[in-house]
Amino acid sequence: MAAQELVVQAPVAGRIVPLDQVADPMFSLGMIGDGIAIEPASGEVCAPCDGVVVSVHSRGHAIKLRADNGAEVLVHVGLEAVALRGEGFEVAVAEGQRVAAGELLSRFDPERLAALCGLITTPTVITSDAFHIERRAEAGPVAVGDAVMTVAPVGAPVEPPKMTSDREVVLEMTLGFHARPAALLAEIAKGFASSVQVSLGDKQANAKSPVSLLTLGCRYGSRLRVSAGGVDAEAAVAAVAEAIASGLGDPVVPLGTAPDAASAEPGEAPAPSEPFAPGERAVLDGIVASPGIAMGTVVRFGASRRAPAETGADPATETVLLRAAVAEVARHLKTQAETSRNAPQREIAAAHAALLDDPELMDAADKWIAAGKSAGNAWCRAIEVQTTILRGLDNARLAERAEDLVDLEQRVLAALAGESLDPVALPPDAIVVAEDILPSQFMGFGEQLPAGFVLAKGGRTSHVAILAASSGVPMLVAVGPDALRIPEGAALVLDAETGRAVVNPSAQAMQAIRAASAAREARRDANRAAARAECAMADGTRLPVYANVGSVGDAARGDAFGAEGSGLVRTEFLFLDRRTAPTEAEQLAEYQAMADAMRGKPLTFRMLDIGGDKPIPYLPGKPEENPILGVRGIRMSKRHPDMLRQQFRALLRLAPGGQCRIMLPMIADVAELRWAREVFAAEKAALGIAAPVPLGIMIEVPSAVALADRLAAEADFFSIGTNDLTQYVLAMDRGNPDLAAEVDAFHPAVLRMIAQTVEGAKTHGRPVGVCGGLASEVLAAPILIGLGVASLSATRSGIPDLKAFIRTLDLPTCRAVAQDALQQDTPEAVRALVLARWPDALPPSLAGIIGESAGA
Ligand code: PEP
Ligand code: MG
Repeated sequence: MAAQELVVQAPVAGRIVPLDQVADPMFSLGMIGDGIAIEPASGEVCAPCDGVVVSVHSRGHAIKLRADNGAEVLVHVGLEAVALRGEGFEVAVAEGQRVAAGELLSRFDPERLAALCGLITTPTVITSDAFHIERRAEAGPVAVGDAVMTVAPVGAPVEPPKMTSDREVVLEMTLGFHARPAALLAEIAKGFASSVQVSLGDKQANAKSPVSLLTLGCRYGSRLRVSAGGVDAEAAVAAVAEAIASGLGDPVVPLGTAPDAASAEPGEAPAPSEPFAPGERAVLDGIVASPGIAMGTVVRFGASRRAPAETGADPATETVLLRAAVAEVARHLKTQAETSRNAPQREIAAAHAALLDDPELMDAADKWIAAGKSAGNAWCRAIEVQTTILRGLDNARLAERAEDLVDLEQRVLAALAGESLDPVALPPDAIVVAEDILPSQFMGFGEQLPAGFVLAKGGRTSHVAILAASSGVPMLVAVGPDALRIPEGAALVLDAETGRAVVNPSAQAMQAIRAASAAREARRDANRAAARAECAMADGTRLPVYANVGSVGDAARGDAFGAEGSGLVRTEFLFLDRRTAPTEAEQLAEYQAMADAMRGKPLTFRMLDIGGDKPIPYLPGKPEENPILGVRGIRMSKRHPDMLRQQFRALLRLAPGGQCRIMLPMIADVAELRWAREVFAAEKAALGIAAPVPLGIMIEVPSAVALADRLAAEADFFSIGTNDLTQYVLAMDRGNPDLAAEVDAFHPAVLRMIAQTVEGAKTHGRPVGVCGGLASEVLAAPILIGLGVASLSATRSGIPDLKAFIRTLDLPTCRAVAQDALQQDTPEAVRALVLARWPDALPPSLAGIIGESAGA
């Protein structure tokens, strides 16, 4: 063996797998280093060589050694999830300690860790660029101490080879350059002996390194120069340039045909549209996600990202500043994690604290500081490399972590700038204008919600829309890029009834809107005062109106708005935005608190409905090309029956027993229902519960409508989820902003599906309710009732108006109008039909005044 060579030994016993087959792109694409991976058969991690421990991750899953020849070897137990959830590592060494090959580094319980985090594959990689792997062991069984790699220095630094060939190529990939094409390009470049470079302006990247390529920051329209030096330079340049031109598997639009981006200068973001001038009046259209009217002052959310100075003082000073800022943010997060009033906020703060603790972020920032950058600039660069990679991986879970990293970037920059880390208190009339917001960001407003929201993106039935509607805060979504032209501090009227926002309305118009709003408020107050009474139609037909509920607070507020119980408890909100699943005891406590808040009134708990647009981070799942048609709802439960069992148990243990019904989401056929019913019956029997507990199903998949009579034989009740039913009947993604206006549950095709469902239910005398968004629409009430729907579950803020209107209806008229509705051709015609019969169904519109304000 040559003097500088290092033999790396297996750190754990198990089975070697090639690194490129590991289920984490960070490792499989070689972004962290080259090496091997082992599927561990035991939980003892030993030193893979003699050396010094240079870092031990605070969770203990990642330990890096520096061997005597200078090569750094990282042993990383488990994949991405372990960084967040891996607990229970017993670390036997400390940073700075010298160890001998084979000496114990740490211990873990493989079964427990696998249950907690999914895969526990253990990559062992060489992280120093100055070394390469000369030989490595084949896939197969391995014992601790077996030689698995021979590592040698790449050689003394040499002059970069002279570039002998080059070519310019324009990047025409519409998605810009992200991790997957970067990895593909690096693979192509590695097929040549020559060194190959890609440059953008004065930035250069090694074409054989995906990370190096990503740090160029090139995007659509960037003019790149590909150059190479070596024996096959010409062929290398041709192959790499052609690969870039071909799009590397991503969509390509020739420059000049995509006007916005084509005008972008190389390496620059396309110029944002000009903000509206001070006082400039503008009317923007959007989709109503949560109805209501608001007037107020614009607060831009997430619009201004701090951009620190590029260079700073000397590296020692900048290092101290960065460490102090990170420590301050860490302290703040810890306090939030311990003291925030609601559970999601506590969980998010804890997750952010774990991310902030990642030594790789600090390592990267240190390198930039050593290169002369300021603390803030170095921190941004360290974060940006990670976010670029994460966002490019087409994996929703990892992309969410990118948003979390941006959040941390900004917090650390705020701390560096000496700013307070507490959330900025919103003025009472704030109308938040943003590109989009996440449910976690919405929850971050806590009790101090803004007066309204105007979002450039988003969908009518997104979870943020559901949160807004359940809080009674008006929200307009899918307004488009003009929303981002609304300046901070502008006056704004938000008409989330007709779907318009007026920027800088005239003073007279504001006054008129105030007066009209007061009249509407008076009507609303009267309806609210009467809301607590039971709801019956004018002819005496009882028609209970329930509230949709996602939390204990929702249940309590629903009760205050006159809800006669809950027809839909979305239990998934308890499972989202956490690092681990809630235990049975936690679930029971939360469900019991909801039931108590409803003061004895009935509740229908829906079993966990996740997957699709509601991923949860701790359930391992393969990335799906089309998650809306993927493993969601009951399909997810079939893959995790223990979670279903546990949730059944928690619900069955509620007291008093008769208060709750249970329903299953996304049932597509009888076999799924039978399977879940058997699990339910087994848990019920195990708990010794003899009293009947109704088990019903959501009708939200067209096949369930087609099979309604068969399903009715075995389900105790139906509840129609018109949000999903509409998306699947019309084949339109409910979250797609471009389709937001068309995904309309008033569509006669959807109404016919509801009619068919009721007919199917009748064959076994099963009651049918509606709990999707259509149940909250005042104009839909007579149609649904006329079709035979027996109860409605709505967003709580609309319940008083809904009840007041239902009290004016009679069954024969509703039946006649419903039959007419089934014969219409468009949703607009259906609405017009109802308005023609009940012209006062909606409160007086502000549209006229708002229209004048736009023109005034
Ligand atoms: C529905 O699909 O209508 C429904 C009520 O379920 P969710 O909106 O939670 O998917
Ligand atoms: Mg649904």
